[in-house]
Amino acid sequence: MDDLTLPFESKYFPRKKYAEMYRRSLEKPEEFWAEQAQNLDWFKPWDKVLEWNPPWANWFAGGRLNASYNCVDRHTKTWRRSKVAIYWEGEPGDTRVLSYSTLYTEVNKVASVLKKLGVSKGDKVALYLPMIPELPIFMLACARIGAPHTVIFSGFSAQALADRINDVGAKILVTANGGYRRGKVLNLKSMSDDALDMCPTVKTSIVVSRTDNEVKMKEGRDFWLHDLMKKADAYVEPEALESNHPLYILYTSGTTGKPKGIVHGTGGYLVHNYSTYGWVFDLKEESVYWCSADVGWVTGHSSIVYAPLAHGAAIVLYEGSPDYPAIDRWWEIIEKYGVTIFYTSPTAIRMFMGQGEEWPKKHDLSSLELLGSVGEVINPEAWLWYYRNIGQERCPIVDTWWQTETGGIMISPTPGIEPMPLKPGSATLPLPGVAAEIVDEDGNPVKTGERGLLVIKQPWPGMLVGVYGDPERYEKSYWSRFPGMYFTGDYAVKDQDGYFWLLGRSDEILKIAGHRIGTAELEDAAISHPDIIESAVVGKPDRIKGESLVMFVKIREGVNESAELRKNITDHMRKTVGAFAVPGDIYFTSALPKTRSGKIMRRVLKAVASGEEVGDLSTLEDQSAVEAAIKSYQGLKKAEAEKK
Ligand code: AMP
Repeated sequence: MDDLTLPFESKYFPRKKYAEMYRRSLEKPEEFWAEQAQNLDWFKPWDKVLEWNPPWANWFAGGRLNASYNCVDRHTKTWRRSKVAIYWEGEPGDTRVLSYSTLYTEVNKVASVLKKLGVSKGDKVALYLPMIPELPIFMLACARIGAPHTVIFSGFSAQALADRINDVGAKILVTANGGYRRGKVLNLKSMSDDALDMCPTVKTSIVVSRTDNEVKMKEGRDFWLHDLMKKADAYVEPEALESNHPLYILYTSGTTGKPKGIVHGTGGYLVHNYSTYGWVFDLKEESVYWCSADVGWVTGHSSIVYAPLAHGAAIVLYEGSPDYPAIDRWWEIIEKYGVTIFYTSPTAIRMFMGQGEEWPKKHDLSSLELLGSVGEVINPEAWLWYYRNIGQERCPIVDTWWQTETGGIMISPTPGIEPMPLKPGSATLPLPGVAAEIVDEDGNPVKTGERGLLVIKQPWPGMLVGVYGDPERYEKSYWSRFPGMYFTGDYAVKDQDGYFWLLGRSDEILKIAGHRIGTAELEDAAISHPDIIESAVVGKPDRIKGESLVMFVKIREGVNESAELRKNITDHMRKTVGAFAVPGDIYFTSALPKTRSGKIMRRVLKAVASGEEVGDLSTLEDQSAVEAAIKSYQGLKKAEAEKK
């Protein structure tokens, strides 16, 4: 502990309770986390809280439990059996309300469906579903039988879906005929059909009927869920799983083209999430908790499914778009269900900000007690708008910093422990058990006010247990930059009160509207277009989305730099990655600026794309490449001005 600067020892606000907890959590982590783990139900107690063979952790080694039991069964043994578990709102306005006992029935029956189709412990199940109750139900059913699920965001294209299914070797794909998005039906089944043509491991597909669109069912492979449910058993014994048994594998972008399958275990992940949702959100069984993220991202896994359901709270699940049929849809939902805790992204807040305060004013938001923000840096202006117009200057805002890999929240205010002063734009302080530090390029702590790299110096229970099928990548990506420390890839700075301010990624990962995507993955997709020889993708600041995608492409000789080609490339990106990967601008260039070692100089391209000075070019291989990029930028801007 000697080398640890205690961030909370500020003269201004001695936060005794938090300070005490934080100190103890790092000095005696095993004792601290053992206490927290008592909040869950274990079939067999652990032998050791942490087995740590750096960088491999086994939390609650020897313990056995089941996530589905903890999120569902245990509530049905209490008064909570008759309380709401899920308030579901479909985009067209249809609704479903599931109590914990209904959820229990559904989860058991779906688990039976999976078992009857031959899924057993260790088999992987891919879920490609809209935001309907079947999504959490399938996740919990998989957890019940020990079959790790991999949820693929329904905004991903057939190719991206196939890549993930193949990497994980899924046995079954669960999809729906469609889902609603902005009044239209998104045909997930046809996307799944295209993907399954490329997926040899998937022999069976379960289809949930959500919409009215016609779909093709492949004889012997595709089955309607409602048909299978008719023959399902009412009870399936939850497997007593080893604590480190993989609960799920979730794909996320790294710095190479191939997405990484982040593996989360069961015991550590659940203990981390159960504890932190109490500290951060003051989550209780009586809370009505709404996280607006898609379940396809880690926020959805922890914040929609595992943490609130383990607490026995009610969650709100909304299928559709925030601005459909009007821009006040979300505020209408908060009023309708009496939401007490609301958790969303800075991009959404900035979008609402642009539409004016009259929209939230139309609704009674007095049920709200606490607000949260996640996924990207929140600018103080958006923070204040959220505080005033949604929280009505009554609700604290928790700006929560975490990652797919961390499994749960790591840095955030903790009003659930005790009230604390907030600063708009700062995620404030690390949670108990999180040894966060900011270091320089050599791994030494930076001074107050100096920018550095965020690292975590001790293992924590929610940490990833590995990268699926690639132990080397796990060690290399997270533990090799600074031996003994987990490397987050984020820049941060600490102020005089020890508060953390996140400053964005230090690597080649972009956050477009809070969606994480690696430039390498986008560039790989771009060069699969027949007319593109080479491509570089960079982010450029965007008022609403935080960052927008800019693509520089070198095309084949003889191909015309036409508006049609631009549209064609845009369609290609939509088809190969997904709608959120559509570039804002495409620049045609004859060369890409590279260093002498052949690395693309993104800094230069970023500056060009933002219309800024390109700075020092001494390491550049060929100056003319920058001129070509600038020429392309100027050409496009001129064409846009003429069009106006
Ligand atoms: P993901 O794994 O998709 O959740 O993305 C994790 C990344 O999102 C982090 O490494 C950060 O760059 C960014 N991020 C998440 N939460 C915050 C936050 N509260 N403030 C700033 N950046 C954040």
